[in-house]
Amino acid sequence: MPTFEEARCIILDRVGILDSETVDLLDSAGRVLAEDIAAPWNLPPCSNSAMDGYAVCAEDCQGPVALPIIDYVPAGGRAGKQLEPVTAIKIMTGAPIPDKCDSIVPLEQAREKDGLVHITGGVRKHQHVRFAGEDVCKGEIVLRTGDIIRPIEVNMLAALGKSRVAVFRRPRVAILATGDELLALGESPCEGKIINSNSYGLAAAVKTLGAIPVLLGIARDNVENHRELISAGLNADALITSAGVSVGDRDFVRHVLTELAIEQVFWRVDVKPGKSFAFGIRDDVPVFALPGNPVSTMLTFEEFVAPALRKMMGRKQVLPQMVAAELQNDLKETPDRTCLARVYTEYIDGKYVARSAGKQETGLTTTLRKANSIAVLPPGFRTLTKGDHITLHFLSSDAGSSGVIDPYFEVSCKRNQEL
Ligand code: AMP
Ligand code: MG
Repeated sequence: MPTFEEARCIILDRVGILDSETVDLLDSAGRVLAEDIAAPWNLPPCSNSAMDGYAVCAEDCQGPVALPIIDYVPAGGRAGKQLEPVTAIKIMTGAPIPDKCDSIVPLEQAREKDGLVHITGGVRKHQHVRFAGEDVCKGEIVLRTGDIIRPIEVNMLAALGKSRVAVFRRPRVAILATGDELLALGESPCEGKIINSNSYGLAAAVKTLGAIPVLLGIARDNVENHRELISAGLNADALITSAGVSVGDRDFVRHVLTELAIEQVFWRVDVKPGKSFAFGIRDDVPVFALPGNPVSTMLTFEEFVAPALRKMMGRKQVLPQMVAAELQNDLKETPDRTCLARVYTEYIDGKYVARSAGKQETGLTTTLRKANSIAVLPPGFRTLTKGDHITLHFLSSDAGSSGVIDPYFEVSCKRNQEL
């Protein structure tokens, strides 16, 4: 049985990056670039004014001076004249710097009267001038394969004239619930039956990551139904099943995976919750067999499936960023395997502090709902008490509500700068 870390490594080793597709720039936000982008021109394309003011020659303005205004250039316009010695051209922000001018005196630092602009002096050469190419140089590789496209990248791509970009394909992820006790959403619970909630929770998690969920419905507890629906799921880019994967006599997932020649890479992990998480693969289609208990389902998705899907979508940073936090209350004794504790973490007085989000029984979805982060407690821990240091990561869907920057974005930006 692999450890928590080993299981993650094995999965990431076995799943591959999907191929690419070309999309409209408007649809590219959140996707991962699948091409290097070279700048076809300079940014800014020509030297221009950073302020509304007067374009001058700095040499003429070292002491108090009154300069005749010989022309006017609005943004989008061009000067009709070049600057003559000891004159000024009125200029608006973004307008091209007229010939022979080298500096801009902002409106606020000058006084205009009767066609003259009065300047008190002390003008620095090149002040408030934005030079052609100072942001991006023509021919420079500005963005690279693997970069995440955020709104600023969309802005830059537009500035460079890219109306369509190559991005890695979003995986279509088939989701299959299993169990005779499951009712479809819309039916009312009755004796011994529960509503299939996992399919919806998983679909939301898949969507939140930027992948495409495909709901396959419910496989009933018989081999034929499992075979039919699991086979259908293998047509997607990845398949997730929930429940029916442990050793009960009505757990058919493993049996059918074997029958369908799916390589069973491992079928248990030394982690709590999530021990009965299995991973298989056939023809590059990964199969994630998740435990059925909703807390275990959502947590094993977060810890094992989400990193794999991120890799498939071309992301470079796929594992959550771990942070150190100080525990605010005791956490119950943990067994001799990695334990995933649901905690609530805040940044207070310069450090992260975490408290238990509630009772840690795996049947309690409300504890997961109250958590914004998962503490990964290594095996060998005994009782953790207030003041102990733990490591944790924020839930990937929770970056907004916790007020923390999306940890994946942050880390991959750092990575990109290193390249
Ligand atoms: P199993 O692995 O089939 O023994 O299921 C484990 C637990 O998860 C049982 O309590 C099931 O009722 C529950 N469960 C299984 N599938 C779902 C589902 N799709 N939605 C919600 N709970 C489920
Ligand atoms: Mg079952």
